Amino acid sequence: MIRLEQITKSFNGNEVIHDLSLDVPAGKTVVLIGPSGCGKSTLLRLMVGLLWPDSGNIALFQKNLSRKNLEALRQQVGFVLQDGGLFPHMTAIQNMRLMADYLKYDTDKTNHRIAELCELTHISTDLLNRYPSELSGGQVQRIALMRALMLDPQILFLDEPLGALDPLNRVSLQEEMKSIFSQLRKTVVLVTHDMGEAAALADLIVIMKDGYLLQYDTLSNLSAHPADPFVTEFINAQRKPWQQLEDQIN
Ligand code: ADP
Ligand code: MG
Repeated sequence: MIRLEQITKSFNGNEVIHDLSLDVPAGKTVVLIGPSGCGKSTLLRLMVGLLWPDSGNIALFQKNLSRKNLEALRQQVGFVLQDGGLFPHMTAIQNMRLMADYLKYDTDKTNHRIAELCELTHISTDLLNRYPSELSGGQVQRIALMRALMLDPQILFLDEPLGALDPLNRVSLQEEMKSIFSQLRKTVVLVTHDMGEAAALADLIVIMKDGYLLQYDTLSNLSAHPADPFVTEFINAQRKPWQQLEDQIN
């Protein structure tokens, strides 16, 4: 569904993604994880054509991403950037309608879709006329997710969609996202730095470090057959203190 072949990307002569290849199968949730600055957001931005690689090839739906087909391909994917990325001068519903109106979708169809999404993400319709600054963090993330789902894309790209939330809201929205992804059978690429979130949501996990893909595998394989000592180190560092204590005792 998504194929990256030998992608390299530099900023000002500094290479931050090195010869990275990745295949994301249809209907799966793939989580990109690694320490801050390892290149997760850069990789996601490359996949949605917000950045272009220096070399290598990116294909969505078996079509190579190019400046020519970018607009057509973008309409088939949804994305949520790190802070939700809602336009502050537009209400929630204006943010959501943006693309549908631009593409001149039928108004009834758009309204029907909005009602459907409100149900799916448990957003009450009376919140829709508020501006982003009048919404809680969790509500902003729900609206951003609804905006991404508006055109019913097959692929969703999410960059730390729960990053700014407090732990309680984070866990509840995590559960909701899990059920939304499985209900909708989307192909999802999600960035996080939280192993618990990766464990909860991922079918497959990409462990990144310093712009390299160290291992692309299921959580149980990462744990049982780490390809690099850093994989084990990273997983263990994120284990809860009581789990580490248990390891010590056993
Ligand atoms: P992550 O999302 O994993 O925290 P990023 O992809 O944001 O990491 O960044 C990877 C590296 O690329 C970092 O060293 C960062 O400073 C650098 N970088 C990211 N975007 C830019 C940019 N627009 N200009 C220059 N350097 C950048
Ligand atoms: Mg990032």
